[in-house]
Amino acid sequence: MANPESLTPLSKDELQELAERAISAKEYAYCPYSNFRVGACVLLSTGAYHTGSNVEVAATPVGICAERCAIAPIVASIKRPDMPVMRALAVSTDIDPPASPCGMCRQFINEFATSRDLPIYMYGKDGLSGNVVKMTIGELLPMSFGPNDLKRNE
Ligand SMILES: [Zn+2]
Repeated sequence: MANPESLTPLSKDELQELAERAISAKEYAYCPYSNFRVGACVLLSTGAYHTGSNVEVAATPVGICAERCAIAPIVASIKRPDMPVMRALAVSTDIDPPASPCGMCRQFINEFATSRDLPIYMYGKDGLSGNVVKMTIGELLPMSFGPNDLKRNE
């Protein structure tokens, strides 16, 4: 993992870009069964933005959430230990108050977050002009089980 100190607060422009990309990512959601569109975007310490959307299939448990869709390609394309730090994640849905990442995604985000303070911004049906909820992964997944817990057994 890169230096966790890279978890610097987002500038106003970075947050705007992150939100816009997460909201736009909803357009690519493939959700013919639930009609529940979700878009997500991750901002990395490299300055790169990575988006994802939910992808459903007829065998419903096989689908994937937008958050994991955004994060997995980053992990799968960068050799450890060169994984850049996730500085923030945004999630966008069409409901208000905004939806939060599901439990499975919280665990997934926690795995690759270098800080429990990773901010997660949640946008609802009115996008940037509506309600925004900001919480950290530590708040969304308290008492988490992560990679360091496995090491405690050594
Ligand atoms: Zn999820």
